[in-house]
Amino acid sequence: MTRCNLILATLAISLAIGCLGCGYASESEAIRWKAHDMSRPKPPVVTPLPEAQPSPPPEKAVVLFDGKDLSQWTSGDGREAKWKVQDGYMEIVSGAGTIRTKARFGDVLVHIEWRTPTPPTGKSQGRANSGVFLMGLYEAQVLDSYEADTYADGQAGAIYGQYPPRFNACRPPGEWQSFDISFRRPRFGADGKLQEPARMSVVHNGILIQDNEELLGPTSWLKYLPYKAHGDALPIELQDHGAPVRFRNIWALPLPELPAPDASYAGAYKLIEMSAKDLDRYTGLYDRPNSAAPITITREGNRLFADFYWRPGGLELLPLSSTEFVLKDTDGRIVFDLNDHGIPTGLTFHLGGDEMPAEKRAK
Ligand code: MG
Repeated sequence: MTRCNLILATLAISLAIGCLGCGYASESEAIRWKAHDMSRPKPPVVTPLPEAQPSPPPEKAVVLFDGKDLSQWTSGDGREAKWKVQDGYMEIVSGAGTIRTKARFGDVLVHIEWRTPTPPTGKSQGRANSGVFLMGLYEAQVLDSYEADTYADGQAGAIYGQYPPRFNACRPPGEWQSFDISFRRPRFGADGKLQEPARMSVVHNGILIQDNEELLGPTSWLKYLPYKAHGDALPIELQDHGAPVRFRNIWALPLPELPAPDASYAGAYKLIEMSAKDLDRYTGLYDRPNSAAPITITREGNRLFADFYWRPGGLELLPLSSTEFVLKDTDGRIVFDLNDHGIPTGLTFHLGGDEMPAEKRAK
């Protein structure tokens, strides 16, 4: 697995795990650190992966900066972006203002490389401050945090004002650094109420530093802000905070929505009625070749269940015919072999294109 693929896989797994528990409860009563609390513990310093040359973006990525021009960007007022471009990088021109992408993004994976000036100047938040704002609202902080102190929720890789990075993975000023940011936009109902908060993961120089954190609202200086309903796709912004930070090799890969089944899905099967007496003949143990664990078929009332690996409970089987049953909650089916008397002698379990035969054990 290449380094890039490893990073993508890490972010995908992180986001997938987070999806399992995405129910949202109000955080209004939560005990929180004060914004920018200097007593909040600083993350441990970790040695980042070695600095690498830019690698080509994945095939479906939107290339936002390839080192040549700012054609994919505008200034904050919609006019031409005025940052400097030379030698394959763009550089913030102090006072030229924040720039934003012409394209809009919702759920997205963003790769961006940045470099703080050397020799470094300034201290705390004045030390090479910039930032990558997803949807123009949710900032992954860019800062020179190499052997430099500031508040934990404002150092490089912080989700600004909310979550310090898990590690300080900074390279020294003058070296190129990378962020791979996966972002899941917040979901709002038709009534404008928050249904699901935004989530962000960040890999900084190959190290996971933000792990699918639930954002409290738009990131902000001095205070926590509540969510306000907004569109599903908005530009990515890069912050002009007055320091000549450079950027290169910027691309964004929009993340596809995970489709949910529609109304036609539930009625995909035409089931038949079977009595408890009819179902009884299927019950018993079915031995699989090369496996010590049989498939156990049991009946409860007029419901039939298949049990794999001796686990309690089982998977409910729904009858399509006297020989074929589908699993209620899994896209698999069991086809029974019946003898001349209609008694099962074996079965074949079908799942994902695989077939698993099993022979009925004599009682
Ligand atoms: Mg910033």
